[in-house]
Amino acid sequence: MPIPGPTSGLADSYGRVATDLRVSLTDRCNLRCNYCMPAEGLDWLPTEETLTDDEVVRLVRIGVEDLGIREVRFTGGEPLLRRGLAGIVERTKALSPSPEVSLTTNALGLARTAQTLADAGLDRVNVSLDTIDREQFHEITRRDRLHDVLEGLAAAKSAGLTPVKVNAVLLRGVNDRHAPELLSWCLEQGFQLRIIEQMPLDAQHGWSREGMVTAEEIFALLESEFELTPDPEHRGSAPAETFLVDGGPATVGVIASVTRPFCGDCDRVRLTADGQVRNCLFAREESDLRRALRSDATDAEIADQWRLAMMTKRPGHGIDDQTFLQPTRPMSAIGG
Ligand code: SAM
Ligand code: SF4
Repeated sequence: MPIPGPTSGLADSYGRVATDLRVSLTDRCNLRCNYCMPAEGLDWLPTEETLTDDEVVRLVRIGVEDLGIREVRFTGGEPLLRRGLAGIVERTKALSPSPEVSLTTNALGLARTAQTLADAGLDRVNVSLDTIDREQFHEITRRDRLHDVLEGLAAAKSAGLTPVKVNAVLLRGVNDRHAPELLSWCLEQGFQLRIIEQMPLDAQHGWSREGMVTAEEIFALLESEFELTPDPEHRGSAPAETFLVDGGPATVGVIASVTRPFCGDCDRVRLTADGQVRNCLFAREESDLRRALRSDATDAEIADQWRLAMMTKRPGHGIDDQTFLQPTRPMSAIGG
């Protein structure tokens, strides 16, 4: 296996280079989406194992200044639960070169914080919303909080955190038939809807291929009410295949992680809230940067460890392989 050079970025052994860093700021959450975690929640990380704000910023700085990271997305768990979020965003944005900084959130509390986050330099938000029907929202998230999410979305738009993207997962027999209604609503509001295939990353290990609503089904559902044509803009490493809706300019995206994997173009790397580098959502190994941080490693030593961690990135997620094993950590603890 080639040993990465001291000045290289985050290249892996298949020639892909990671420039997009997903940072989980907490594994805790105030919703309980049933495709993500059980009703009773999970055993959350102990505080002492969670990176401090300074530790997060140091790792992000090494990523940006020494390793070629150009986009930073904060996620979780629910990143708005992290008290120091605005400060972390501000310090990230102040790095040189200043990265694109975004947030993936369920939007609970965003109504209160959107302007502060925008003032701190946040560029964009992706809000997860699977339905605009209150009963369905309650059924999926196990919380009656649709109203707060809608207020959060409106605040994001007013604060200029645009384009606001809405990420939705469809569940068979629950919200799948309502996908066209969700798209209509997003078009009206000026939000970009992206529908994501459900992945085997739930804490309960309840995912099944048969239960998943596939990209093919998503297209059929949307095409029952809209005309979709491929967006001529190049997809690049973006996971969403985008389509013009009724001739455009509005678009809708479909992220077919399972049935049309885009691993060959992957430019991502992940950092968990407890300081572990994961070179893939589905990775089975992690590299412990927290230990390095807390044992006085230099920036150069941490950067070397991080580069080395990329070398075991596999060519694909392998969900369809006989030998596929779901990662031990669920999506909420990895950072979605
Ligand atoms: N709590 C934040 C939120 O919901 O946006 C951030 C973390 S959440 C894990 C990030 C994204 O992962 C959400 O859009 C959610 O819908 C998605 N997600 C969670 N479990 C998933 C699964 N099993 N398959 C596909 N997407 C999933
Ligand atoms: Fe929480 Fe996001 Fe998981 Fe829903 S998808 S339970 S909001 S972490």
